[in-house]
Amino acid sequence: MTTITAKIQLYVNESQAESLRLTSKTYQKACNWLSEKVVVSKNLNQLQLNNLYYKELRQRFGLKSQMAQSVMKTVIASYKSAQSNGHEWSLVHYKSAQANGHEWSLVHYKHPSYDVVWNRDYSLNERLFSVNTLDGRIKLPFEVKGMQKYFNDDWKFGTAKLVYKFNKWFLHIPMTKGIPLLKEQDVNNVVGIDVGINFLATSYDSKGKTTFFNGRPIKHKRGQMKTTRKALQKRQTASARKRIRAIGQRENRYVRDVNHQVTKALVKRYPKGTLFVVEDLTGVRQATEKVHVKNRYVSVSWAFYQFRQLLEYKAQLYGHKVIVVSPKYTSQTCPKCGHVDKRNRNKKTHTFTCVNCSYQSNDDRIGAMNLYRKGIEYISDTVTVKV
Ligand SMILES: [Zn+2]
Repeated sequence: MTTITAKIQLYVNESQAESLRLTSKTYQKACNWLSEKVVVSKNLNQLQLNNLYYKELRQRFGLKSQMAQSVMKTVIASYKSAQSNGHEWSLVHYKSAQANGHEWSLVHYKHPSYDVVWNRDYSLNERLFSVNTLDGRIKLPFEVKGMQKYFNDDWKFGTAKLVYKFNKWFLHIPMTKGIPLLKEQDVNNVVGIDVGINFLATSYDSKGKTTFFNGRPIKHKRGQMKTTRKALQKRQTASARKRIRAIGQRENRYVRDVNHQVTKALVKRYPKGTLFVVEDLTGVRQATEKVHVKNRYVSVSWAFYQFRQLLEYKAQLYGHKVIVVSPKYTSQTCPKCGHVDKRNRNKKTHTFTCVNCSYQSNDDRIGAMNLYRKGIEYISDTVTVKV
């Protein structure tokens, strides 16, 4: 997600300028009035403020319903951001106020301004800016140059601020770009990814190509760390415990690093529009089943889960899609003839030999091939595509 703020100049005639002046000045007064209440009550709860002040805001200032709501939101947001550091404000300055022994700074709105909610107070298209004022809705032309590319479904407009500066009217609009999701009919490549210990990840793609992302360094390194940790555990001293914690943290960082590298390599390797198929290995039980008993200590499900999360996040950025499927039988099914049999797999030698058709391969590759097949089934269930 990307958010940028566009600042566009509005072109207003005299009567429109009058409406904007009246509305933004009234809005400013209402904000200052509410601010004086809030600094005493120290209440920033929208619902409670609504119960206490909504009616009075409307009566006293002649605000429309939506404007009264916005005034409360503006004041709440100002106090929240005044309480956290590092804010930047041109419209507001503070005066000290003493309240109930604890000091809260009074937020004072120095200039007329008006916060407008998208689709309620305002709308914007390639030609006109339409906004609610106290005199009713007005439509204004604006400086379109540079704005054209934002008028599409990719960009969402947020709550904007109407600002009067240098004798001109401006609209500050926060615009957010969502990442478009890959649709099933746009999938042009399917990749099965088997996540295991011997090879951290094995991928099998639409061209029948298998790629191994080597996980041996991980296994080796974590093995070393485990030996050191065991030696330290026997010592039972404060410094030993401290070092154990440090090793644990280093280990996590190391796994995270490798997960980052491998997921990045995967999303970059395949063309935009790839459907990645991974197993749901979130349960520890399933995760440990995947590895040999003597290696069980290296099989922690959080590492697999992290792998999946990083893959999903990066896939989105690159225009891919990830689906998660049940790990049932992925290691026992023959990708050639579909025969399911425990005896197909030899865990000791990491080989797969189909007892039905004698197809032979490395067992990590079999997992990736079966996941690939599930991906093909998935998209042909949804739409017909050529892969
Ligand atoms: Zn077979």
